[in-house]
Amino acid sequence: MASDMTGVSTACGICGEAEFSPFLNVGGKSLVRCRSCRLVRTADFQPDAALYAGEGYFTGPGGYIERHEIFRSLFEPLVERILRFKPRGALLDVGTGVGTLMDAASAKGFTVKGVEVSQWASTYAREGKGLDVVPGTLEEASFADKSFDVVVLNHVLEHVEAPKPLLAEIRRILKDDGLLAIGAPNAGSLMATLIGARWASWRPEQHIWHFTPDTLTALLKTAGFDVIHQEAKDNSTVTGWGAKELAQRVINAISAMANKSEAMLFLARKSGQAPS
Ligand SMILES: [Zn+2]
Repeated sequence: MASDMTGVSTACGICGEAEFSPFLNVGGKSLVRCRSCRLVRTADFQPDAALYAGEGYFTGPGGYIERHEIFRSLFEPLVERILRFKPRGALLDVGTGVGTLMDAASAKGFTVKGVEVSQWASTYAREGKGLDVVPGTLEEASFADKSFDVVVLNHVLEHVEAPKPLLAEIRRILKDDGLLAIGAPNAGSLMATLIGARWASWRPEQHIWHFTPDTLTALLKTAGFDVIHQEAKDNSTVTGWGAKELAQRVINAISAMANKSEAMLFLARKSGQAPS
């Protein structure tokens, strides 16, 4: 597989294609689109091992600790949606950070576990909050086959260098009637289309992949999952009523009607088809 000097594969994360077309320039970083399946990726992505290692990613201004209540309120609709399809059982949150979604799922009766690559965040969740969080990657946690009713990837997949192997591991540890729940920014959203490079959720220093409903559906299909529910949800909390906020509220309302909001929520089940 082709790779750049950093060792990160430069091939398409869905179809393996090596040829990409220019898509957008975001603050000096170029985003490119797969010529075959149209998945958008950050070109020459540089993994920053320090990014999630320390506490800065979680404790900085607007981070998960300072805005705990806001994030928890954002995660509750996801948990509510999961409940509709899977009312109880063992739930694993992959990339749980400081365990905010685990708190919300536990409050609704799930038996919760988490995995988190950040040593700092996993320690905080375990020692500070008493949550069952395994430090490291999902593969390193090596859970038993078919041990979870629900696996959650909330704003994680766009950060992962190799999404298909991650989904294969999830398929292995998920029960046959289990549910995979994915939250991700919607690169096909009305806001992303309207404001282009100024859209806040490109984050090319963190996000390798920029999924749309179509490309996320295609990825899940090749990974052996059937999408059973998908919706677009706003992820920006509008608090003011100035001109900018008013414009944002109007765009959010139109986006919601057109199912083109800034974040996507997908629920999927294992298909009979093995991953391709
Ligand atoms: Zn592709």
